[in-house]
Amino acid sequence: MKKIPVSRPILSKKIKKFVSKAIDENALSGTYGNYIHDFEKKFSRYVKSKFAISTSNGTTALHTALCAFNIGKGDEVLVQSLTNMATAFAVFYTGAKIRPIDSCYSTCNIDPEGIEKHINTKTKAIVVVHLFGHPVDMDPIMSIAKKYNLVVIEDCAEAHGALYKNKNLGTIGDIGCYSFYANKILSTGEGGMVVTNNKFIAEKCRSLKSLNYGKVNRFNHPEIGFNYRMSNIIAAIGCAQIEDLNKIIEKKRYVANRYNEALSKFDDLYLPTEQSYAYNVYWVYHIICTKKLLGKRNQIMSCLAEMDIETRESFWPINKQDVFKNEFGNTNEFDCPIANSIGENGFYIPTGPDITEAEINQVIYCLELAIKKLTIDL
Ligand SMILES: *Cc1c(COP(=O)(O)O)cnc(C)c1O
Repeated sequence: MKKIPVSRPILSKKIKKFVSKAIDENALSGTYGNYIHDFEKKFSRYVKSKFAISTSNGTTALHTALCAFNIGKGDEVLVQSLTNMATAFAVFYTGAKIRPIDSCYSTCNIDPEGIEKHINTKTKAIVVVHLFGHPVDMDPIMSIAKKYNLVVIEDCAEAHGALYKNKNLGTIGDIGCYSFYANKILSTGEGGMVVTNNKFIAEKCRSLKSLNYGKVNRFNHPEIGFNYRMSNIIAAIGCAQIEDLNKIIEKKRYVANRYNEALSKFDDLYLPTEQSYAYNVYWVYHIICTKKLLGKRNQIMSCLAEMDIETRESFWPINKQDVFKNEFGNTNEFDCPIANSIGENGFYIPTGPDITEAEINQVIYCLELAIKKLTIDL
C-alpha cells in the first residue's frame, strides 16, 4: 500500500478551468478580474453573512478582525488555549495581552465556565475556536460577552460549513475568520476570509487589508494599513471549490462515521463527538488516548507511521508555549490542565476528501493492531 496522508486536497477540472480563465484574461489580482468579488459573494451566501472580505490567509483574517475592533496595546483578550498558534499570534501582532482559557474535554473547545474569572477592566474580546470542525457552545459565550461588553471573534479556520443550532459559524459572534490553507476543508493553498453582519466593521476590514488608502486623497493614508489581499488566481480556485464544499463535508462526515463504527469498541480511546447543538464537519478525526492508553499517544503514532499511516499530534496549548511564557509570564493562573492533557494525548488520523474505502479500512486495521499491541504489552 502507498502511504496514507492525513489530508490531500482534490484539484478538480473546474479549478483548472477557472484558473486558466483568470490567466487567459491576464487577471492576476486587484481590480483585474472578477474572481475576488465573486468568491466573496459566494462565500457570504454560503455562510449567510451580510459581508465577506477576502484576505491572504487565516492569520491575516484574524489580525484584520482584531484591528477592526481597535484591539491593541493595554487590552486583554481571552483566547481558547487549545488551538493552532496562528490564533494567538494574531493577538500578539496587536500588542494586546493574551489570557489563555481552558477547554471542555468533551469537545476540546473553550469551556465557558472558565472565562469569567479571567475578566477584568482591560478585557476587550474573546476569541473562540471551532476546533477540529466541532462548533463551540456559543450561547453561554454570547451571554458572558453581553454581560461584560466584550467583542466575540470566531476562529472558523477548521469548521467551514459547521452549524451551531442551525446557525452558520462566524455569524453568531461579532466577526468570523476562515482559512483556506491547503489542508483546510475549503482549500485554495493560501487564503482567508473575514465575515460579519456589521457594515461599519466590514468597511473597516476592507480598508485595513488593502493598505488603508485615503478616501479623499487616495495616497494620503489616515492610519496604518496592511497588504493582506487575496489574488485573483487564488480566488478562482475558491470560486470553483466552494461549489463542491457540501460534497467535501459529506465525505468528511462519512469517514468520521466509519471510524466511529469501527473504533467505539475501544474503551481507551475518546472519539470525536457531535453535541446536540452541533453539526460537526470533522475537519480532522481527533482521538484522545485515555485510561490504559494514557501517555501512549506517541507510541501509537510511531506504530502507525511504521505502517505508512500518517498522523498528527494534537495542538500544543498557548499556555505551554515558550513564546507565550517569555512574553506574558509563566504563572499557575494561566495553566489550562484540560487543554494540556488533550494536547499530550490527542492525535488525528487520515480524513482527506479523496480517501478511498480501502484506505479507510487500512487505517482502521492498523490502528486496531497498534492498540492491541500497546495494551497487551502492558
Ligand atoms: C489554520 C488555522 C489558522 C491559520 O490559518 P492560515 O491560513 O494558515 O494562516 C488559524 N486558526 C486555526 C484554528 C487554524 O487551524
